[in-house]
Amino acid sequence: MLKIEHLSTSYKTIDGDVHVINDLDLTIKDNEIFGIAGESGCGKTTLLNTLYDIVEFPLVIDQGRVVLEGEKNGSKFSYESGQIRKTWWNNISYVPQAAQSVLNPIVRLKKQFVDSIPKEDRKNETEAQTLERVANYLKELSLSPDVLEAYPFQLSGGMRQRAIIALATFMSPNVVLADEPTTALDVVVQKGILMMLMRLQKQLKNTLVIVSHDMGVHYQVTNRMAIMYSGSVVELGNTEDIFGDPIHPYTTMLVGALPRVGEDIQRVGIPGRPPALKDPPPGCRFAPRCPHATDRCRKEVPAFREVRPGRFAACHLLNEEVKANG
Ligand code: SF4
Repeated sequence: MLKIEHLSTSYKTIDGDVHVINDLDLTIKDNEIFGIAGESGCGKTTLLNTLYDIVEFPLVIDQGRVVLEGEKNGSKFSYESGQIRKTWWNNISYVPQAAQSVLNPIVRLKKQFVDSIPKEDRKNETEAQTLERVANYLKELSLSPDVLEAYPFQLSGGMRQRAIIALATFMSPNVVLADEPTTALDVVVQKGILMMLMRLQKQLKNTLVIVSHDMGVHYQVTNRMAIMYSGSVVELGNTEDIFGDPIHPYTTMLVGALPRVGEDIQRVGIPGRPPALKDPPPGCRFAPRCPHATDRCRKEVPAFREVRPGRFAACHLLNEEVKANG
């Protein structure tokens, strides 16, 4: 599982620190598809980079840590921030945003596959034997091994994305992180990519973390999800519950803005814009856009707490409700 403990990160800039993740506590479990949603600039990708241990200046961890622990092939493992990169591909892997453009366009896919497999995992075999394993894996995923001979520029965007997912899952990692995995793909290809990710998670029984601004992706794929706003998680729960009965005002507006099939209602977006992370408002950061904001909201940061069993939110209104219900 992935444990995020009191994590705060910031970007160091010449104009001062920009705090992007604020005292985040979260546990992502084994064998679940976990979604991280929110508008652009809310910190989703920074969080994912921190989970994958890509913390390079100007990004800095100010406090807390990420712990990756579990069991693979009968051996227990535990790595924390600063060590997680030692186990890339093996226990954790990453499908980056715009993954299609990550592949080197002038290197055949077979070389890119072989180079990404840690040496110790292929030390007892020839390159031809490694490639045979890769080709068999591609066949399992219903991909033609012929793609190994291709240069990335010869493949469609969808095919490149499938190749990246195959690369990221070849070593059966315990955790796969996918950042906006369907961006820049047409709707039909998007559906195929999501099905592939779901099928692989079911097969590997591992943890898949999907970051996407697209609520439709979360609805179709994830089991649990976190809604982020301005560097903090404001609501966490089962995806079905979040869509069926959102409780935080931001989530309510986010879900309310989604179009419904067969409805003849003009849906409206959330008015206003998220605050600049460099200079956020005091108190609840959603207050300038929240129809329920009070003076207290503008002064005091709401605690993130369990409002119902398995359901967490950060909102003074909900906290009052919890107190009233004992
Ligand atoms: Fe709205 Fe106040 Fe709740 Fe923030 S704390 S979401 S401003 S009601």
